[in-house]
Amino acid sequence: MSSMLEDIERINAKLKEGEGLVSFEGYCTNSNCMAREIRVHLKNHDDPLLEHAVRCPMCRSRLKLHWVRTYREEAIEEDKVARRLVNMQMHYRDYPERLGVISAAVLCDDRLPPTPPGWFDDPSKAGG
Ligand SMILES: [Zn+2]
Repeated sequence: MSSMLEDIERINAKLKEGEGLVSFEGYCTNSNCMAREIRVHLKNHDDPLLEHAVRCPMCRSRLKLHWVRTYREEAIEEDKVARRLVNMQMHYRDYPERLGVISAAVLCDDRLPPTPPGWFDDPSKAGG
């Protein structure tokens, strides 16, 4: 596990890259703590309080840092996760006998499914 100073430097580097806006996720290292994953969204940089951000809000133990992303990187990742969830639901709808068994190829598929014809109202015909 990296040191807390290394984690803070990693977050600060992303803060500079993300113009002061980052998200990170960590895991509470205290096995007796009820918290598991903690996601933090930060603004600003070079804040002396940053050391407090890499601690569990429940028990104040150190968080094991999973990832740090700029807001833009996080938005891209969240869109990918949303597409993967839709693709998994489409897979289960189309192959209900495979419910609970899913291949890595489907699990990692973050392509945007095609829009079925007529799914959205044609905006050029709205308002009549
Ligand atoms: Zn904790």
